[in-house]
Amino acid sequence: MAEDSLFLKIMRKEIPATIVYEDDRATAFRDINPQAPTHILVVPNTLIPTVNDVSEEDEATVGHLFTVAAKIARQEGIAEDGYRLIVNCNKHGGQEVYHLHVHLLGGRPMGPMVVRK
Ligand code: AMP
Repeated sequence: MAEDSLFLKIMRKEIPATIVYEDDRATAFRDINPQAPTHILVVPNTLIPTVNDVSEEDEATVGHLFTVAAKIARQEGIAEDGYRLIVNCNKHGGQEVYHLHVHLLGGRPMGPMVVRK
């Protein structure tokens, strides 16, 4: 069987999620554990596990994630105030789901970019 992921299962509607956007290259749905009033994940429809796996052939798809994020930000009414896009990679980046995704966070000031520990 080809490689699978939690997010592919959401796209195939095998796992419920609140999908807010779908096209032939990307799908976006609300994060199950929101960290802000708007917290949406923008995901490529093909399985790219991490940023480390992005190839030159993926560049149009990965760029599309930003176009979609901006479109959803407008839909959500947060574009003008602003928002934060986050992509986590591997263990030190805090990645939990190994299917590349852009977090779209907004609806409040997002605070410092990185918390010092
Ligand atoms: P990351 O740590 O960057 O890999 O982010 C993974 C995100 O996926 C987390 O913010 C989780 O809350 C979110 N998540 C995990 N399972 C689900 C799910 N079934 N539906 C929606 N979001 C999910």
